Amino acid sequence: MVVHYTANYSRGADAIAHFNCSNRTIRNGRIRKASAHYMVDDERVLQLVPDTEVAFHCGAVSGLPYTDLANNVIRENGLSANEFLIGIEMCVNVDGVWGKTYAHTVEPDWWLVAKHGLGLDQLYRHYDITHKLCPKMFVEARRCGRSSKTMCSSSQRQKRQPNPAGGGRF
Ligand SMILES: [Zn+2]
Repeated sequence: MVVHYTANYSRGADAIAHFNCSNRTIRNGRIRKASAHYMVDDERVLQLVPDTEVAFHCGAVSGLPYTDLANNVIRENGLSANEFLIGIEMCVNVDGVWGKTYAHTVEPDWWLVAKHGLGLDQLYRHYDITHKLCPKMFVEARRCGRSSKTMCSSSQRQKRQPNPAGGGRF
């Protein structure tokens, strides 16, 4: 899994607002493609894309090529890192409670991490994949959060696995 942040500090820019924006009909009945599998805020975790489908949240772009970790551990056969990773967007709206959003995203006993049976060392930052400054606070802290465990230096291969439990909203 890969964590991101919305970089949208606006009041009200919570998971529901981003969920609605991501699923907005833009033209000719087409639905805008969601950019991550999950949108997390201080009150909820919304699933935008099924775990078994690819979302477009951490591909390499001009000026931000894949890191060695992405090339050597995540990707294979020339495929995009998106093919192998579930994306989580954390909301950072000023009227949200960051500590709760953080917990909903990375605390090991919380639903999102537990659902996928992941160890903390299998949670990457977007920065680990392309060196994008995302999530900014985790790049500056050099890890995914305030846990004393190193959470983002795994050498283990992280593959997407279908999860029959499906997504949830709570
Ligand atoms: Zn990101």
